[in-house]
Amino acid sequence: MNLRFDDSSITVAIVGCGGFIGSHLLDAVLERTRWRVFGVDLDFYRLQHRLNHERCEFLCADLADPAVVERIAQFPLVVNLAAICTPSRYMGEACEVIRSNYDHPATLATACARSGSWLVHFSTSEIYGRTLPDSGELIEDETPAVFGPVAASRWSYATAKLLAERFIAGLPGLKWTVVRPFNFVGPYMDFMPGVDGEGIPRVLANFSTALLRGEPLKLVNGGKAKRCFTSVHDAVDFLFALFAAGSGLPDAGSETAVNIGSKTAPGVFSQAFNVGNQENEVSIAELAGKMRTIFAKVRGVDVSTLPEPQIVSGEEYYGVGYDDSMRRMPSVAKAERLLGFKARIPLDVALEESLSWFVGHYDTGASS
Ligand code: UDP
Repeated sequence: MNLRFDDSSITVAIVGCGGFIGSHLLDAVLERTRWRVFGVDLDFYRLQHRLNHERCEFLCADLADPAVVERIAQFPLVVNLAAICTPSRYMGEACEVIRSNYDHPATLATACARSGSWLVHFSTSEIYGRTLPDSGELIEDETPAVFGPVAASRWSYATAKLLAERFIAGLPGLKWTVVRPFNFVGPYMDFMPGVDGEGIPRVLANFSTALLRGEPLKLVNGGKAKRCFTSVHDAVDFLFALFAAGSGLPDAGSETAVNIGSKTAPGVFSQAFNVGNQENEVSIAELAGKMRTIFAKVRGVDVSTLPEPQIVSGEEYYGVGYDDSMRRMPSVAKAERLLGFKARIPLDVALEESLSWFVGHYDTGASS
């Protein structure tokens, strides 16, 4: 497979192109390569500035349509980002969550195995399951996972994602790479409840919404869980390191080392990669403190004028069946070893960029 960045005959299919990560990836593909993009999504509001771009074709569809799946699989590189990934939906819509995170990716993977496309499939760091406060680094090919009971429907998402990974890994002839994101953050993440989405978005959008509305930040079960927040720009850099390394590798599952430019790259196919930033670990209570401070700075007010955070129980906040991972520390050794990739953007920089964007985007009066 030869995926030179200056080859204008290449088209990458981005499924979920209109989403948070997809929109950043699209921009980067257009800026850093001469490739064309075939973008599939149900919603394109984040892509208004790209809708008439000469190197883009967009299709408003999802993977439930077999003809769409076949069309996507005609391209040499397919990045699948499409998924329901809003925690509050894991609780009440388990079947839809499983369809979107298992059935659809499995169909796409089957089509890619037939056509020979390289499938870069976005999984989740949730596949490591119900981690404990003292859980150590989560290592791609070593760490075992424990999930909550069936009644804890939070795990509908993680188990569907895990099954999709296993299906992909077991599919004969498929050229695949799985990406496990660790709490990506940045502009265009999620939505503001009641404005451009319903339900409870992930923590950053929730905290940003509360700050804009002058409401207290809600700390679920005291905000003791820890996460390693990772800038979406690092995530995009990871993908480019992956594309560069995968270009020129001969076959699915190959462990053969080949020369790429001046570097020797071992196989990146048939691999799952964590993408995260170990240095950005923070408890959710600490995150609340940081976001209040940044918001006060952006607004030019004293932090003491903002409401104090409030503790709420997980069940009260998300509903029956909520459960949590208490620590999610990625091992990043594999991405460093195989791709020479390491996330670089510090937590405070990523948070300030995200929150400033959120304030600029939503603070129009429509938000309150
Ligand atoms: N959380 C919180 N307040 C909120 C939203 C989330 O305390 O308003 C907590 C949630 O319980 C979890 C962490 O923040 O411990 C991260 O949640 P998120 O939904 O962002 O994603 P996750 O990493 O759990 O997939």
